[in-house]
Amino acid sequence: MSNHSNETVRKIIHLDMDAFYASVEIKDNPALIGQPVVVGGSPQSRAVVSAASYKAREYGIRSAMPCSKARQLCPQAIFVLPRFNRYKEISEQIHQVFRQYTDMIEPLSLDEAWLDVTQNHINCPSATWVAQKIKADIKKQTGLTSSAGVSYNKFLAKIASDEKKPDGLFVITPENAQEFLMNINVSKIPGVGKVTQKKLFLLGIEKGEQLYEKREDYLKKHFGKFGGYLYQMIRGIDERAVISDRETKSIGIENTFKEDYQYGETLKQELKSLLNGLFKRLKKSQKLGKTMGLKVKFQDFHQITRSITLANSLLTEEVISKLAFQKLFEIAEYEYPGKKIRLLGISISNFEKEDENAAKNQQLDIFYFLERGEI
Ligand SMILES: [Mg+2]
Repeated sequence: MSNHSNETVRKIIHLDMDAFYASVEIKDNPALIGQPVVVGGSPQSRAVVSAASYKAREYGIRSAMPCSKARQLCPQAIFVLPRFNRYKEISEQIHQVFRQYTDMIEPLSLDEAWLDVTQNHINCPSATWVAQKIKADIKKQTGLTSSAGVSYNKFLAKIASDEKKPDGLFVITPENAQEFLMNINVSKIPGVGKVTQKKLFLLGIEKGEQLYEKREDYLKKHFGKFGGYLYQMIRGIDERAVISDRETKSIGIENTFKEDYQYGETLKQELKSLLNGLFKRLKKSQKLGKTMGLKVKFQDFHQITRSITLANSLLTEEVISKLAFQKLFEIAEYEYPGKKIRLLGISISNFEKEDENAAKNQQLDIFYFLERGEI
């Protein structure tokens, strides 16, 4: 037992695809293998580099650099226009892999996500092993490499994934975290961009050790709220939860019955009470969705899900009830006649847009900006 014995130590993976856009372009066009590939606009334009292959990086080409500069650094570089729809497709494949292991997935971008694997679908106690499996599955599914960081919070997992790129895996344990943090360059801390880095440098802070020595009020005086963040991070303290996209994107309820039921009055009664529970949750969330999903698990543990999406209107309680009873009837009478049912679940998703904004606003604290660039 470690000194964290009072609480369960979380197991967080940060997974980051290697040179994602460039790697997808190379995968789709083998003529680009081994070439300095730059995804971005034309070098004649004012566009900046979206991604650079590892070969291109050997010439000093980096993301966010003007494409004209990239051309100067490497005249033979091959410039490719980004194809975001293609990257989204591959990103979806990657998320399918994630979902085999956990539902607690918080995407940061198309090619990066945090996964909470404290509890996971394969009941594996080793997050490192899960990370290895995920990396291998992604490689198998997409042909692409990724890097994983494994630790007990989001901040450390994120720094860890950057440690052994490309195709890396790095673990920071509660036991070695502080030593690791003492030796990092402060520019490694997410949110510390060029401006903050310079400011820290002028205060004599370059290494983690030097940041660690500063008092909290000193850091707050110079960096405001961000100073408080720095103080916590350099101590390896980060309580932020992994907020799964699913959690905010669907509301659902399910129930495993005391005994298995054939279709009939009892089962209908169970569905009715399930619907009442669902309506309470929907009211509380003040959300209205367009998609209803009905999950049915049979006596033999075979499980199916059927969903219905309304094209142009939102699901009211009345419509949800009607659809749920109708679907259950179809499944029980026509699709799987006579099969006993042990679990029913209903979920609503595809919420109207304003709710997405509301969810975002809740996150509009400092961390929201942090993950998206410089402060
Ligand atoms: Mg990446």
